[in-house]
Amino acid sequence: MTAVESIPGVVEDLRAGFRGGALHEVEARAGQLRQLRLLLVEQEGRLIDAVVTDLGKPRIEAYMAEIAGTLSEVDEALKHLESWNKPQKAKVPLPLKPGAGRLHPQPLGTVCIIAPWNYPIHLLFAPLVPALAAGNTAVLKPSEVTPTVAALIEELVPEYLDKRIVSVVNGGVAETTKLLEEQFDHIFYTGNGVVARVVMAAAAKHLTPVTLELGGKSPTIVAADANIKIAARRIAWAKFINAGQTCVAPDYILVEDGVEEELLAALQATITGFYGDDPQASPDFARIVNERHHDRLTALLDGGGYETIVTGGSYDRTGCYLAPTVLAGVEPDAAVMSEEIFGPILPVLKVGSIDEAIDFVNERDKPLALYAFSASDAVLDRIVEHTSAGGVTLNHALLHLAVPDLPFGGIGPSGMGSYHGKAGFDVFSHHKPVFKKGIRPDPTLTYPPYTKRKQNLLRKFI
Ligand code: NAD
Repeated sequence: MTAVESIPGVVEDLRAGFRGGALHEVEARAGQLRQLRLLLVEQEGRLIDAVVTDLGKPRIEAYMAEIAGTLSEVDEALKHLESWNKPQKAKVPLPLKPGAGRLHPQPLGTVCIIAPWNYPIHLLFAPLVPALAAGNTAVLKPSEVTPTVAALIEELVPEYLDKRIVSVVNGGVAETTKLLEEQFDHIFYTGNGVVARVVMAAAAKHLTPVTLELGGKSPTIVAADANIKIAARRIAWAKFINAGQTCVAPDYILVEDGVEEELLAALQATITGFYGDDPQASPDFARIVNERHHDRLTALLDGGGYETIVTGGSYDRTGCYLAPTVLAGVEPDAAVMSEEIFGPILPVLKVGSIDEAIDFVNERDKPLALYAFSASDAVLDRIVEHTSAGGVTLNHALLHLAVPDLPFGGIGPSGMGSYHGKAGFDVFSHHKPVFKKGIRPDPTLTYPPYTKRKQNLLRKFI
């Protein structure tokens, strides 16, 4: 835990690091990115151990999301570092010639990155990568909900990264509140919408721009012509990885009339295939992060508003276990439909048509992600065209966030701003417009006195 009174000093040191030009040279940025890479590679075992301790994740899930997913962001940034940082030429209109225009990327300064607990390493370091690539110094605030990871990050970051460039502040509400009193050049927050409002209000005091990576209920539409077996497998994988504690996990399914029974049977068979008859004994199924979230999830189950539990429903509070659960005959006003589930409960709702599914989505908050399964491109196009969401994967789930050229972020209540790849670099850069004029010629046409002749010429040429 960072002492509250030391926080202003931590931020001041980072500001001094920025002013002192610690990351002025692109090579210095590459150096810090390579150090971050080294941290992830050399400390992989300890990092995964910490995630397993805090979240009970299967090791391979921790490796894929926390280590490999972050390394690919680092490698993408290293690969494009030179070209991203190169000024881009701008076209100059004829009346302003001779002259040269360019967009000159510059770092913002000192930024604050606040991360949540569900992917506690990736969601802290993935925004740090573009922040460093763009030349910013940064304070990192890991989630206190995953304390083993937070403590390890506090230990490792100063070992690998330059203290003038990156610092860690650990703690909960008191420490983060103090941190947010500081004036940053950008705040990058990932987490829930309630805290996002606190972050944005604090940022407003200094007119600091924010990126808010939030959550919401991501719908999954299954059309009657979809390959149901493959759809069930892909949805179950995306839903139950990390026990449903993924911001872009399919929150609920809207299945078109006629294939509901087939889909429910396929989901049930898939879950047994993935985790066996007793998922609690499976090494491949994660746990709920803590008892508070476990209580929240079981309350959603107890809230009713559905006909049957197709599979799952059992839980063990002390072990923070909740079985992969599929609910059928779910009413739109069921408890599980009242908030983002963020756990291994999958409600299935029947709709009469694709248009009904589209209306259902549009009557609710704009989601972070939307998924649709259909054999027909026309159906998929119609869904994309007539709904709004932060991002979309068609005939699979989650995967749009793994494509570096597809910016990842929400819309409306699911967030503002986006990152990954070049989009992240742009978040942490000011693309400063610069126009350079030649000294000669210097025609007097635009200078006073505005004679009749000059006015006529100006009207003609401009
Ligand atoms: P959390 O409880 O760890 O909180 C996130 C961060 O906010 C933490 O660092 C915490 O210290 C800080 N915080 C908490 N209360 C605060 C306060 N009053 N003032 C200032 N800071 C405060 O995580 P969470 O919010 O439970 O995370 C889950 C949510 O995040 C879900 O809604 C999920 O969908 C969303 N999420 C979004 C993404 C994304 O990329 N869009 C990724 C992961 C999670």
